[in-house]
Amino acid sequence: MKIVELRECTVPLQGDIANSLVNFSAHTVSLVGVITDVVRNGRPVSGVAFNSIGRFAQAGLLQERFFPRLKAAAVDSLLYRDGSGFDPDKVVASVMANEKPGGHGDRAAAVGGLELAIWDLNAKLAREPACQFIARQFNNQPIQDTVPVYAAGGYYHPDKGLGGLANELRQYQDLGYQDFKIKIGGASLTEDIKRIEAAIAIAGSGAQVAVDANGRFDLETARSYARELGQYELKWLEEPGDPLDFALNREIIEHYSGVIATGENLFSCADVHNLIRYGGMRAGLDIFQMDPGLSYGITELARMIKIMEANGYSRKSAYPHGGHMINLHVVLGLGLAGCEAYPGVFQPFGGYASGCLDGQGRVRAGDAPGFGLETKPELKTWIDRLLA
Ligand code: MG
Repeated sequence: MKIVELRECTVPLQGDIANSLVNFSAHTVSLVGVITDVVRNGRPVSGVAFNSIGRFAQAGLLQERFFPRLKAAAVDSLLYRDGSGFDPDKVVASVMANEKPGGHGDRAAAVGGLELAIWDLNAKLAREPACQFIARQFNNQPIQDTVPVYAAGGYYHPDKGLGGLANELRQYQDLGYQDFKIKIGGASLTEDIKRIEAAIAIAGSGAQVAVDANGRFDLETARSYARELGQYELKWLEEPGDPLDFALNREIIEHYSGVIATGENLFSCADVHNLIRYGGMRAGLDIFQMDPGLSYGITELARMIKIMEANGYSRKSAYPHGGHMINLHVVLGLGLAGCEAYPGVFQPFGGYASGCLDGQGRVRAGDAPGFGLETKPELKTWIDRLLA
């Protein structure tokens, strides 16, 4: 068994929406295909994945550095010992040859997209959903049927007032979501408080509404928000300050009785270790959001979870960033807390295939082999193009 071709297709994200810092209308995602010489039903078995949402495609890094290294690797050096598939750990080791430690950045997303495609491939070779395959590799069986999911939205949009926000959240409720996340920091504190109160009025309680500042605040602003938000007992307050400013995170936690969530911008085990060492994260309360598509893939994420557990944090404190099919399988397979969803935005990648939502705030994986990306029609169009 060998890899015969590696492909990347840069896909634009649909949607003219913004958080406090970033407008997503120019964002792109790398769809990665790993094509093997194994033929079933007249077609090669291929792994497909992408490097999550909210950053950019990594065509250059993949085409210039990581694909050539993987193609040059001896096939026996990449396989599981029983030859049943490609060992993601060995694949990452081979593509990371000649890379210095540290400075993770976009490289972590490029490798993440490729590593995830290897998991999709392995699960397809084993003819099972990726969550089952992942669970077996990490001795995490049996897996849950469903996990909690919240609808992430509440973006800033020109001409979208409080009524527009309320309508958006009601639409999510109609789809079966009960918990929400909205953006803060793109308006004044007074205006954001009105938005939060509007969201709570629809959700029913503060515990069903998370807010995300996307790392925008300096210490003083973060303190002002934390002071005002404490009374609402929110689901969580996400990334109040720069994600690598662990001292700021600790300071906010010391003045905030509610839940803090962070981690989507930590791309390596070393980053997670530093958050734990210096960020003040409280076991049993605060939430970790590392995303395998942004951080070298599932192998690195599983190591991050081990670091959490070795330091007294539960894997049930991990709620990965990135509301899409891949991370649904990762959450089920690794036994993490729950999923994000981007219903209606960040297409074709955001949200889930029909049938995944149970109508009561939980989500399940389908029976399709791999991550089941082909069961999402708007994504299948791009996958067909990638593999044609
Ligand atoms: Mg976020």
